[in-house]
Amino acid sequence: NVRVRFAPSPTGPLHIGGVRTALFNYLFAKKHNGTFVLRIEDTDQNRYVDGAEKYIIDALNWCGIPYDEGINKNEKFGPYRQSERKHLYKSYAEQLIANGKAYYAFDTAEALDAHRKDHEEKGKTFIYNWHNRLKLNNSLSLSAEEVNAKLDAGEDYVIRFKSPQDETLHLKDIIRGDIKIDTNILDDKVLFKSDGMPTYHLANIVDDHLMEITHVIRGEEWLPSLALHYQLYEAFGWQAPEFAHLPLILKPTGKGKLSKRDGDKLGFPVFPLKWTDPKTNDVSRGYKEDGYFAESVVNFLAFLGWNPGTEQEIFSLEELVQSFDLARVNKAGARFDPDKIKWFNHHYMQEQHNDELAESFKSQQPEIAHIDINYISLVIGLVKERATFVSDFWELSHYFFIAPTEYDSKASKKAFKEGTKEILSQVITILEANEDFTVDTLQNEIKGWITSNSIGFGQVMMPLRLALVGALQGPDVFDIIYMIGKNETIKRIQSVIS
Ligand code: GLU
Repeated sequence: NVRVRFAPSPTGPLHIGGVRTALFNYLFAKKHNGTFVLRIEDTDQNRYVDGAEKYIIDALNWCGIPYDEGINKNEKFGPYRQSERKHLYKSYAEQLIANGKAYYAFDTAEALDAHRKDHEEKGKTFIYNWHNRLKLNNSLSLSAEEVNAKLDAGEDYVIRFKSPQDETLHLKDIIRGDIKIDTNILDDKVLFKSDGMPTYHLANIVDDHLMEITHVIRGEEWLPSLALHYQLYEAFGWQAPEFAHLPLILKPTGKGKLSKRDGDKLGFPVFPLKWTDPKTNDVSRGYKEDGYFAESVVNFLAFLGWNPGTEQEIFSLEELVQSFDLARVNKAGARFDPDKIKWFNHHYMQEQHNDELAESFKSQQPEIAHIDINYISLVIGLVKERATFVSDFWELSHYFFIAPTEYDSKASKKAFKEGTKEILSQVITILEANEDFTVDTLQNEIKGWITSNSIGFGQVMMPLRLALVGALQGPDVFDIIYMIGKNETIKRIQSVIS
């Protein structure tokens, strides 16, 4: 029974890399009929940011990848905020002390700094582990009485994991295969602090165990913690879950990791939703507010590190669930290409319902606030092939709503020749005589007139288009005429020939 979790820390808005992690967990869970759990890792109170938790949940919902279990939802292993599980962790830390896998340490920050400096001066790196453990102020270098006296006196302490000397650890990662680690390079990580809070490492392992997580799918930045996590499972005598560390997401240049700050610098969002920093009021752009469809974001993110092994690029969420496989996730970093997500958006634009697009277009564009929604919807059907965002619609379709006031000068030179005026007057006559005014009859009559008088097709259609649109662009001229109607068409032609 597959159980995976997304375990963000609420230290700010979820960036796009976090959404990718959530997505891969979601896909893996759904593929295996498993459960996708959301756990909030808020043990670091100093980094807690108001509103971040709500943002995370909103972002998952907007993307269409909601959690199955977590805060306010099927809380069978709750609570799901680590701050509310605080009481649980201490006994686990003590269990490790009792079985000799961890120990109390009383070093002050100053003492540790002094040690670090001393090492640096000698050109060595300071690692708190077996090589100098006995020189430091901890329960392995003190007598039992001394340790008890310190604890009784309420001295600040931390509980450290006792990492072994001269061992080779064999770790397994679904994406990276077997990894060997020499324990001599590992430090004795802090698991618990005297303020009563566990560190990330302890809380993460205890919770993954208690929540019966079977697969840990997370970002590559956690790979260096894997050795400790493996050892913690072993120290507790628990079966470790399987691990998969997702590749880094790289800047558009391919050099360096994409950072939260890159969005503003490079002009594209790096967050799913808009975010206003509660302290500074700084606003960061979001894909949603920038006019991207959730389907585009999901399809795009799925390809950041994964590929189906075929040429297919367009995948609905259901198709992703069917095709997703951790074995097809790459080790190598995935380049973030903001143009590619536009490409997806253009694709998904074509799949949106015109009625829904019309609603958002209408609400964004004051000029069309009074226009009938069905008309707007028809217009969208004619222009959306060329649109990537709803915000492109006005540029592509304003002439369906208001007559052009300017005419592209290059186009005018090209379209208006000697005789054009007479031709356009003829067109007016034909239009006036046309009774039923359907696209078909208009097209037949005007084309018939063009052929029987052997006029060049462009000699008619170019100036006609220019009169209606103001430029030599847009969908079929007969569609435009039909949409704006007889009177408006005639009026626009008259404006250019009078
Ligand atoms: N709280 C960690 C984070 O913010 C979770 C890492 C993990 O999934 O183990 O990414």
